[in-house]
Amino acid sequence: MISENLKKIRSRMESAAHRVGRQFSDIRLVAVSKTYPPAVILDAWDAGQRVFGENRVQDALPKIQELPAEAEWHFIGHLQSNKIRKALSAFRLIHGVDNPELAHQINRIAGEMGLTAQVLLETNVSGEASKFGFSPEALRRSLETLLLLPHLHINGLMTMAPYSDDPESARPVFSALRILRDELAAKSGNALSELSMGMSGDFEVAIEEGATIVRIGSSIFGHR
Ligand SMILES: *Cc1c(COP(=O)(O)O)cnc(C)c1O
Repeated sequence: MISENLKKIRSRMESAAHRVGRQFSDIRLVAVSKTYPPAVILDAWDAGQRVFGENRVQDALPKIQELPAEAEWHFIGHLQSNKIRKALSAFRLIHGVDNPELAHQINRIAGEMGLTAQVLLETNVSGEASKFGFSPEALRRSLETLLLLPHLHINGLMTMAPYSDDPESARPVFSALRILRDELAAKSGNALSELSMGMSGDFEVAIEEGATIVRIGSSIFGHR
């Protein structure tokens, strides 16, 4: 069943990409495996899926142990400062860096560990009060300083659209993130090439609006 689901998702990703003249190979699928046990994640691995997303460090570590070492893990949750060290050793990309203090802490700990942290800055373009993330204004103010941190590589931006049954309602949020990225990239001279946006309910719209990474859980693994 998981391999069928993955096949359908990949084909829907490809169609969405082609609708706007993009290539499927330019978009990465993160299979969001939070709450699912290792056996289920292994089914996805066997179906060729290589990148997985988790939102709690403690839950992820035992799963990472059980999956093949070649699997790539992304952290997609709200990172607490006391989990940074563990997160940096287990995850290739941290999607949800949502405030300047956290970015500075990650930079410091990455320096102590002798590595460069790969991160995305979470941006709250919808202005929803319940969402984590930099407001566009805060990002305009902070980005220059954050780009100077020596042990932090800002790969791009991440956002979550407000929950809705209608994927079209997410389109303005995704296009706003892309427009903000284009503005910040031009101003800073840094490409900020990754746009992590789109989940089970809205990933096709996200791809049409420029997503380079989509994060999909329930459409692959079933409802939690
Ligand atoms: C859970 C989660 C997802 C996946 O959501 P689905 O609706 O199950 O596809 C994507 N991104 C983040 C940040 C999540 O927490």
